[in-house]
Amino acid sequence: SDVANIRTTARRVGDDYVINGQKTWITNGTRADFITLAARTGGEGYGGISLFTFPTDVKGFHVGKKLKKIGNLSSDTAELFFEDCKIPARYLLGEENQGFYHIMTNFQGERLIAAIGAVAGMQQMIEEAIEYGRTREAFGRPIVKFQVWRHRFVEHLTALEAARQLTYRAVDLFNRKEYCVKEISMAKLFAGDLAQRVVYDCQQFYGGYGYVTEYHIGRAFRDVRLLTIGGGTSEIMKEIIAKLVDL
Ligand SMILES: Cc1cc2nc3c(=O)[nH]c(=O)nc-3n(C[C@H](O)[C@H](O)[C@H](O)COP(=O)(O)OP(=O)(O)OC[C@H]3O[C@@H](n4cnc5c(N)ncnc54)[C@H](O)[C@@H]3O)c2cc1C
Repeated sequence: SDVANIRTTARRVGDDYVINGQKTWITNGTRADFITLAARTGGEGYGGISLFTFPTDVKGFHVGKKLKKIGNLSSDTAELFFEDCKIPARYLLGEENQGFYHIMTNFQGERLIAAIGAVAGMQQMIEEAIEYGRTREAFGRPIVKFQVWRHRFVEHLTALEAARQLTYRAVDLFNRKEYCVKEISMAKLFAGDLAQRVVYDCQQFYGGYGYVTEYHIGRAFRDVRLLTIGGGTSEIMKEIIAKLVDL
C-alpha cells in the first residue's frame, strides 16, 4: 500500500545501476522475460523512486518461490530478489526519480481494468445463477421463483447497473485523457466491494453446488476476493478519494 516507501535500491555506478532488494507479489514473476522494476534512486519518499525495464537473465536477479494462492490460479505470483544486480543505465524507464508519478499513472489503467473485470464478472455470475435457479427445484418450484431470491437478484442487478455506469463514466474520461483519478478509484472501490456481496449471494443460491468446482461460481468465490486487495486495496481507494475531495 505504501508505495512511496519502497526500499529496494538502485545505486548509480558509472554507466550502470546496481540493484539490491526484493519484491513480493509479482504477477507472472516466475516466467517473465522482462520486468519493470521500481527502485529507490534518490532520497526518502515519493520523490526518490525510478523505474527500470530489463531482461531477467541479468546476473544478481533470481526468482524465489512461487506463492501458493487461494485463487487466480491461472497466473503465477512470485517473490523476486536482486543481489548486486547490475544493469546498464539505459534501462532506466522515463525520468530518474519520477517513478512514483509513472506508477500512479499506470495504476489508473490497472484499476480501471479491475473495475471493468468486476462488472463483467458480476454480470456473468448473476446470469448463470439465475439460469441455474430456473432449473433447480425445491418445494415444488424453481428456486428462482422464491420471492426472497428474486428480490435479492433485483437488488444486485440494480447495484450492478450503478457500478457499470460509474465504470463506463471513468472509462470515458480516461479515453478522453481527462484527469479522472477520483472516478477510477470510486469505480474500483464500488465494483470491487459489490462483487464480494454478489459472489456470496450467488454461491449461496447454488446450495451444495456452490461449494464444489462443477460450476463457475466456486472459482469466482476464490478469484473475486482479490478485487478489493490487488492494484490498491479498498482502504487505499478511500484514502485517495478522501484526499481528492479534501477530507
Ligand atoms: C495475487 C496478487 C498479485 C499481485 N501482483 C502484483 C504485481 O504484479 N505487482 C505489484 O507491484 N504488486 C502486486 N500485488 C500486490 C498488491 O498490489 C498488494 O498486495 C496490495 O496493494 C496490498 O498491499 P500489501 O499487500 O502491501 O498490504 P498492506 O499494505 O500490508 O495492507 C494490509 C492492510 O492494511 C490496510 N491499510 C494499509 N494502509 C492503510 C491506510 N492508510 N488506511 C487504512 N488501511 C490501510 C490495507 O488496506 C490492508 O487491508 C499482488 C498481490 C496479489 C495478492
